[in-house]
Amino acid sequence: MQKLYKIMLSVLLIGVFSASLDAQALSKERINKVLKEAYDKYKGDMGGANADYIKALAIVNPNIFGITLVDTKGNIYEYGDTKEQVSIQSISKVFTAALVMSERGVKFVQKRIGVNATGAAFNSIIAIEQHGGSALNPFVNAGAIQSTSWVKAQNSDARWAKIKANMSAYAGSKLQLNEDVYISEVNDNKRNQAISKLLDAYGRMGSDPLEATTVYTKQCSLNVSAHDLAVMASTLANHGQNPVTKEHIISYKYTPKIMAIMATAGLYDNAGDWLYDTGAPAKSGVGGGILAVIPGKFGIGIVSPPLDKYGNSVRAQLAAKYIIKNLHLNPLAQ
Ligand code: GLN
Repeated sequence: MQKLYKIMLSVLLIGVFSASLDAQALSKERINKVLKEAYDKYKGDMGGANADYIKALAIVNPNIFGITLVDTKGNIYEYGDTKEQVSIQSISKVFTAALVMSERGVKFVQKRIGVNATGAAFNSIIAIEQHGGSALNPFVNAGAIQSTSWVKAQNSDARWAKIKANMSAYAGSKLQLNEDVYISEVNDNKRNQAISKLLDAYGRMGSDPLEATTVYTKQCSLNVSAHDLAVMASTLANHGQNPVTKEHIISYKYTPKIMAIMATAGLYDNAGDWLYDTGAPAKSGVGGGILAVIPGKFGIGIVSPPLDKYGNSVRAQLAAKYIIKNLHLNPLAQ
């Protein structure tokens, strides 16, 4: 009897102890402390280089470094240059794919675009050829231009307006076009034009390929800050409701599907390493932003322009990994 009593007491104590550890892990002080640690630890890391295949990206200040977390109640934690803006680039692909999914359904995205990894660079042409004209997923350029082409609209101006309004709703602020980046990329996007034409030859485009490429280029040129990215990510973490503005942007039916593609292909051909290290669905862009989702808990947005060879921000990855590890946020370890 006494033995049973002792066992029950220790079970109770373990329960109380782990609950207090959990509460401590998620206290405001703890979160702010870990963000500051991540910032201080990596601020001096000079690894990587700005993207320069889009000329306007080469001259963005490489020292920008901002980290924001938004929880699913709408509480905001931030450190560093969290209001500095960079172009969203590939991170936009998540939200346009989500729009197509909500307009045309999950099967449409799976069958028409695909949800598998390419194992190739984000702007690969050979990957399309090797897979019989399939882009494989909406987060490589091919699949993203395809998504843009399938957004329901009367014409390309209406398509652009819808895409911009959709991303702004996720961010809870009116996102603005970065004219310099747009002009620089639109005059130099022959490769993306070629991709769109190739997909069109395979009968995969929903509207005129070159028009879709131009709208896609605009969506990539919207300015965002770490703060914006974290709010966008927190909307996915919060089952489609923006926790700051409280607006319902997308049905909870679609957010697990979008996050599954982020887990598979969010960091391009380095997505496996990222998932292995963090367990978190995420998406990067060559502007230097990364957003990561901790489902049901947090959205993380980080901006730092210098990139690794895959096109992923060096410091944003390091800081996100540090935060996820030290706040015990790995969704696969819950
Ligand atoms: N606009 C860029 C492009 O089409 C986006 C690429 C990226 O962020 N990986 O190349």
